[in-house]
Amino acid sequence: MAELEGFEYGKSDFVLLDEVTMEQFLENLKLRFEKGRIYTFIGEVVVSVNPYRQMDIYGEEAVGAYRGRELYENPPHLYAVADAAYKAMKRRAKDTCIVISGESGAGKTEASKYIMQYIAAITNPSQREEVESVKNVLLKSNCVLEAFGNAKTNRNDNSSRFGKYMDINFNFNGDPTGGHINNYLLEKSRVIQQQEGERNFHSFYQLLRGGSDDLLNSLHLNNDPSEYLYTKQGSSVTSSSDDRRSHREVMRALQVIGFSQEEVNSIYKILSTILLLGNLQFVSDGESVELVGGDTVKHIAELTSSEEESVSKTLLYRTVATGGGEVISKGHSEQEASYGRDAFAKALYERLFGWIVGQINSVIEVKNYNPALHGKNTVIGVLDIYGFEIFDNNSFEQFCINYCNEKLQQLFIELILRQEQEEYHREGITWQHIDYFNNQIIVDLVEQPHKGIISILDEACLTVGKVTDTVCLESMNNKLGQHPHYTSRKLCPTDKSMEFNRHFRIRHYAGDVTYSVEGFLDKNKDPLFQDFKRLMYNSSDPVLKDMWPDGKLGITEVTKRPLTAATLFKNSIIALVDKLACKEPYYVRCIKPNELKSPMLFDEARCQHQVAYLGLLENVRVRRAGFAYRQPYERFLQRYKMTCEYTWPNHLMASDREAVEAIIVQHSFEEDVAYGHTKLFVRTPRSLFSLEQERAAL
Ligand code: ATP
Ligand code: MG
Repeated sequence: MAELEGFEYGKSDFVLLDEVTMEQFLENLKLRFEKGRIYTFIGEVVVSVNPYRQMDIYGEEAVGAYRGRELYENPPHLYAVADAAYKAMKRRAKDTCIVISGESGAGKTEASKYIMQYIAAITNPSQREEVESVKNVLLKSNCVLEAFGNAKTNRNDNSSRFGKYMDINFNFNGDPTGGHINNYLLEKSRVIQQQEGERNFHSFYQLLRGGSDDLLNSLHLNNDPSEYLYTKQGSSVTSSSDDRRSHREVMRALQVIGFSQEEVNSIYKILSTILLLGNLQFVSDGESVELVGGDTVKHIAELTSSEEESVSKTLLYRTVATGGGEVISKGHSEQEASYGRDAFAKALYERLFGWIVGQINSVIEVKNYNPALHGKNTVIGVLDIYGFEIFDNNSFEQFCINYCNEKLQQLFIELILRQEQEEYHREGITWQHIDYFNNQIIVDLVEQPHKGIISILDEACLTVGKVTDTVCLESMNNKLGQHPHYTSRKLCPTDKSMEFNRHFRIRHYAGDVTYSVEGFLDKNKDPLFQDFKRLMYNSSDPVLKDMWPDGKLGITEVTKRPLTAATLFKNSIIALVDKLACKEPYYVRCIKPNELKSPMLFDEARCQHQVAYLGLLENVRVRRAGFAYRQPYERFLQRYKMTCEYTWPNHLMASDREAVEAIIVQHSFEEDVAYGHTKLFVRTPRSLFSLEQERAAL
């Protein structure tokens, strides 16, 4: 718990609230936000409110104040959590992780960067060159990932459109030796379509605005994003950040990380190919379909190091194997051709992103580490992942994201409880059971084999013939209609937000979300004509070829269906949870104070919503149900010895613990405390208040 600041800034730890109610929680959060105190603890969890202005709290001085100190010695701060995670890792050789959650624009990515900067600042005091270089690459990787994975949305000018988990490895000295990045569910639909007011990924605009004339000429591009369908649909080609400057920074970062000039050129070429694909059109004369777009196909062929004829053929035809084993070319309809082009553009970008992450990983991978020589290699993981999403129209993406949040919530409750339990055990204190809502039932609803929603979706995708979204929804309604957390339209016939044959609802731990099933099957199947894969595999650009190993298979050799998008996502999230579960967790819960990006406005209704779905009140309750406050005997004694005649100015007892007992007895708090092996545990914060008051009055 934080050192008790004066209450004029509100309470620095929510466990100190007089009562755990939403009103009190919000009142405290608001007061602190207005006083410029953007961080507040719940025990070891940091709650952060986006200040929407530059705060002078991240400088060298702050780093110095938090470095190596205990959590409660300083006001709440990201640095306090980062330091706690680092200390646990270094002192106890524990793998730790910092999980950052919150909705879009709440400040997760900024928080993750401050945490990484803090860790970089406190490590490698001897400035060893190889460690500095690792740190540099780790920090620079953020800039590259943001360029390719972030975009301007209506909620956040720099919104991460992917989930990110980064492991940082440390040697026995506690210095970084490398790392590994996992990325989750890139929102690739953005490549071909953006909502009004939004942009495609930053990388496109950075290239168009920042690339030299020579470069753009060689890529057959001009410098105007409003000329490309894929970059202009949101009617918002500018951004609050300077694309030209960012372009330079990203290029420098790529260089520092170790991308060769050929590789950078290949990245440019892929971006250009995508932009050119977007401007290709198809026309049909009723019989066959033709391409319209002047020299565009020629340019795409050049950029992808392919034959022009192969490119146009791939865009217009698909190869199919007939029942008799014959291989024939079948012409696309106009609609199929457009669909194929878009699917190809999305896949190109997704693979480019995956490849970039892979390249960074190969550079930061820990090499030549010998545990016998160097001691245990420990890890701090940092997770910056999308929070719960409830929009007016919720689709497949929200379904996946909310499922991921169910998994993380479960882990949160389990780990927080487990952590508490372990500490009580270590300290020899009896553990009392705490009641909480276990959301396993919702997780099962989504992921259970054969019965869960993902299984039903997959089954529909595998069924040959025309299975529509509606048919799939019916199957879900039939199989899951009785589930307490699933609602079909049948159960609420008068509800206007749920249309017949279109919607289903899940009662998530964070609230009800109504999903529109439209597009679910297509997004889950995520089909891409095999011909595109072969075209790319046959490219003479080695980088491009490298990204499409599955293009190697001939048409008759492709027998296995690729896993569906939902199943791939599920598997990656299960693997993520496994990774997190074996680490000691630290949490940062981010809150967005308003929709206007204003540093002044605390929108209570919006904040209340977030406090509710982040489960923060439960978090306070769990913390208080056990012991809200704990401190080593020596520290407790130092702070409160002046409130007891037997301990002031010095005590004559055999141990600090006995001296602390004397203080407790003198104040008649015996009922409220338990004595651990090394720490005093205080059940309610009330006792502490009165001690604080007495101390202040002296
Ligand atoms: P998304 O889920 O969309 O990626 P996010 O939670 O990662 O959202 P950020 O990109 O970290 O949100 O923050 C959004 C914006 O809020 C930042 O670009 C910045 O302008 C502002 N912001 C966030 N945190 C801070 C901070 N600690 N200090 C100053 N400004 C901040
Ligand atoms: Mg982000």
